[in-house]
Amino acid sequence: MPLPTCRDMSELATDYMEGALPWRARFAAWRHLRICGMCRAYYDQLARLRRLLARMPAPPAADALVAEVLARRRTDDANG
Ligand SMILES: [Zn+2]
Repeated sequence: MPLPTCRDMSELATDYMEGALPWRARFAAWRHLRICGMCRAYYDQLARLRRLLARMPAPPAADALVAEVLARRRTDDANG
């Protein structure tokens, strides 16, 4: 399998990180990262960002959404 281009790598990075690529594509991506400092830097940043986001608590539900859900429930209950 030929080495992916830098553009390919930007699209493959998430799947590569999650181990979702078939082994040939994974190996080709790994080889690209070995020789390309730009993609390695991009990949490292992406990995850091994902670790950071994973540590953040889930955002609270928006008040308007909660109010709408409650209102619909009341309407559904009233209509049987
Ligand atoms: Zn590259």
